[in-house]
Amino acid sequence: MAVRFGALTSLPCVRWSGAVPLAAGRDPLVACRRWAGSSTDTVYDVVVSGGGLVGAAMACALGHDIHFHDKKILLLEAGSKKVMGNLSDTYSNRVSSISPGSATLLSSFGAWDHICNMRCRAFRRMQVWDSCSEALIMFDKDDLDDMGYIVENDVIMHALTKQLEAVADRVRVLYRSKAVGYAWPLPFSMADSSPWVHITLGDGSTLQTKLLIGADGHNSGVRQAAGIQNVSWNYDQSAVVATLHLSEATENNVAWQRFLPSGPIALLPLSDTLSSLVWSTSHDHAAELVGMDEEEFVDAINSAFPTRVSARQLPPSVAKVDAKSRALFPLGLGHAAEYVRPRVALIGDAAHRVHPLAGQGVNMGFGDISSLVRHLSTAAFNGKDLGSMSHLTGYETDRQRHNTALLAATDLLKRLYSTRATPLVLLRTWGLQATNAVSPLKKQIMAFASK
Ligand SMILES: Cc1cc2nc3c(=O)[nH]c(=O)nc-3n(C[C@H](O)[C@H](O)[C@H](O)COP(=O)(O)OP(=O)(O)OC[C@H]3O[C@@H](n4cnc5c(N)ncnc54)[C@H](O)[C@@H]3O)c2cc1C
Repeated sequence: MAVRFGALTSLPCVRWSGAVPLAAGRDPLVACRRWAGSSTDTVYDVVVSGGGLVGAAMACALGHDIHFHDKKILLLEAGSKKVMGNLSDTYSNRVSSISPGSATLLSSFGAWDHICNMRCRAFRRMQVWDSCSEALIMFDKDDLDDMGYIVENDVIMHALTKQLEAVADRVRVLYRSKAVGYAWPLPFSMADSSPWVHITLGDGSTLQTKLLIGADGHNSGVRQAAGIQNVSWNYDQSAVVATLHLSEATENNVAWQRFLPSGPIALLPLSDTLSSLVWSTSHDHAAELVGMDEEEFVDAINSAFPTRVSARQLPPSVAKVDAKSRALFPLGLGHAAEYVRPRVALIGDAAHRVHPLAGQGVNMGFGDISSLVRHLSTAAFNGKDLGSMSHLTGYETDRQRHNTALLAATDLLKRLYSTRATPLVLLRTWGLQATNAVSPLKKQIMAFASK
């Protein structure tokens, strides 16, 4: 249902300034008056700003929710539409370890079926070592359930795009549309003014929404414009990713990770003969790894993993690397002090950025979606205002509890394993061995990480 407003000539609105200015050098009030002039703005029930994995999944989940059947939803994505014709034989170098909880969310709106019909690799075990002591922890399931799935990000995005097309009557998607300004009316705004969030796009067009969901990544413009504080720092590490060919075909259903003093190296299974590398290391070493010739690079990976340990199984050895698959990503941590404000909610990396050592970033984002959709669906069913804090705070409480624990644990692990100091090596060796031996504790960790 499109609601249209009459002329809003004296609309009082406030711009929460941030890194995404309304327009460079422009006075906010001038911009507000400009909005006041656009009486034909479409008003959406929900606008999701940012169509990465998390924003696209959010729009899908709302589009498929029965209580949103009469709602108007818009997804804004600055980038182009990513269409995948036939699946290429070459795997993409960007992959994610997807938890069973995330797979359940993706199934709830039909995206998981597309993923399974394209390609993904289940893993049944995870083995983690300390390089200084060879202490290890092994996570596996007593039953033959999958621990998680390694999926190319492009495959997930393709599945989400398909499911967005299936609800095109409810969810409008604007690609190559960057939001360049957000403004909120003052709380004491005049009765005839628009109470909604105003959004300006790069092409100068404007629109309004009752609820703005910021899914625009770790440099979130929504978060900055809303004036939400963000605790953040850069790590002294970058992650090198690559697609690796194994020396021989194996069952390849184990995710391997070894903590080196310079950072963790992980081999994630893609097929019987391929694995994906995520190697977090100092920026200099990462640049060196990306620039090495192939033989040197393969040697570096093989020597980073043990050839003789007390482990029950050794990781597969690597024979070659896919040409042009090497890339590096600087790493950091970020956490928004608040996930919600009146008419605004943050999800995904816009709310939290985490080191990839636990493979949890996008899973945390998908967890945000499950929670936010649950709260919004109840509000829609009860005919409540979607932008009201009464249900948005329920979302914030749910998710901050979970995400803060994960962020803190991941940051602690990163720091604990970045040292050769004997007391800390002893502490972590003891911790790893004790955790490995105490099966209820291991189960609890697995249950928490699989959400
Ligand atoms: C090396 C590496 C390995 C990782 N491995 C894993 C893993 O195994 N498992 C896991 O769970 N996580 C993993 N992660 C983390 C995961 O990739 C991120 O958490 C996830 O991609 C974040 O998704 P997002 O949609 O929140 O943000 P982003 O991917 O940053 O998407 C934000 C989107 O918003 C758009 N946008 C930005 N500003 C605007 C604007 N003003 N207007 C319109 N659109 C805008 C951008 O174009 C972009 O598409 C890994 C990360 C790295 C770096």
